[in-house]
Amino acid sequence: MKYAIVIPDGCADEPQAALGGKTPLAAAHTPNMDRLACMGVVGRSNNVPASLTPASDVATLSLFGYDPLQVYTGRAPLEAAAMGIRLRADDWAIRCNLVTIENEEMRDFTAGHIRSEDGRALIEAIGEKLGGPAPDAVTRFEFVPGVSYRNCLVARDAPPGTFAAGTKTQPPHDIPDRPIADYLPKGPGADLLQDLMRRSRDVLAHHPVNQARIERGERPATQIWLWGQGKAPVLKPFAEVYGKKGAILSAVDLVRGVGVLLGWTRIDVPGATGYLDTDYAAKGRYAVQALAKHDVVCVHIEAPDEASHEGRADAKVKALEEIDRHIVGPLLEALPRHGAWRILVSPDHRTTLRTRAHAYGMVPFAVAGTGITSNGKSSYDEAQAETSELAFVRGHELMPWFLGR
Ligand SMILES: [Zn+2]
Repeated sequence: MKYAIVIPDGCADEPQAALGGKTPLAAAHTPNMDRLACMGVVGRSNNVPASLTPASDVATLSLFGYDPLQVYTGRAPLEAAAMGIRLRADDWAIRCNLVTIENEEMRDFTAGHIRSEDGRALIEAIGEKLGGPAPDAVTRFEFVPGVSYRNCLVARDAPPGTFAAGTKTQPPHDIPDRPIADYLPKGPGADLLQDLMRRSRDVLAHHPVNQARIERGERPATQIWLWGQGKAPVLKPFAEVYGKKGAILSAVDLVRGVGVLLGWTRIDVPGATGYLDTDYAAKGRYAVQALAKHDVVCVHIEAPDEASHEGRADAKVKALEEIDRHIVGPLLEALPRHGAWRILVSPDHRTTLRTRAHAYGMVPFAVAGTGITSNGKSSYDEAQAETSELAFVRGHELMPWFLGR
């Protein structure tokens, strides 16, 4: 059996006045997703346990069939895996955003979606000044540039207690335009992190890359924002747990990282940006090709989440329509050529346009294919899912059900 999974990140939402009282999923013209819903089943699942923060790290683990309460150690270690960073037992990975702070408020958690070459130059400058031995003279800081604003700080050989489970940091994408003073790191190691964040301001203030960005009318990266710290997680390979060979197509390090840690093949798609301008058709083509060599092919699309963070209902609708046309459509056409098949469409978590932030709650999913009989739903959206009897309160139980085990 061949399985396809399509993840429109953060697509689940609330009814919007701007969309005539419909949710983006309901408002979008998505004939393929709706066909899938008619043929198969629509249900809902909860991918974020109440004790964890709603974000793609936790939610993706659930969606891929792993209980985050058992395996989750933090977001940054998952991204570090995708960046090829090896973490030893005493190493911590810490997510290092380049952000724009104005009037001491979080103006932009992406520093104007800074291009990777700009980001790399700035992170290297920060590494020269702030990298190396920490004040304790044991821990060493390494700044590793990533994609766009998403970089990593590795704290090597940190003695026990340097950071701990009680270290609290704030995802910057969930505090748009809010005063940052309320959201600085707290708990063990907070002084260390706050100090690095403060000192990064001086490194970046007069950097030529930032000067050039301002001259072009782009947002400068005014400082780093440290969050999502954790040690390396231990995950049993997907092939061992579920007996299937997987592939992951995503432009986002975090999601790739989860795939890589499960032993899936990482397939990089040219033109995939992790943003609204991504090449949807290329994603669809590569996913269809990947079916030949893998049992489970998972395509993740970040665009709906980004549209929500920007508060743009129209962009969210458009992203869903592109996903439907260029990814779900071609997969629905290609899958039956491989014999028995199934497809799952589900976001990881909710990202609401109202708050421009991630949210707790059930998300709608649709499954169709071999051995799945219709549960009488006419379209794929939140309202249809709400009326469904098929619900996974523990989201990680959806995967074994989908795989038919
Ligand atoms: Zn998001």
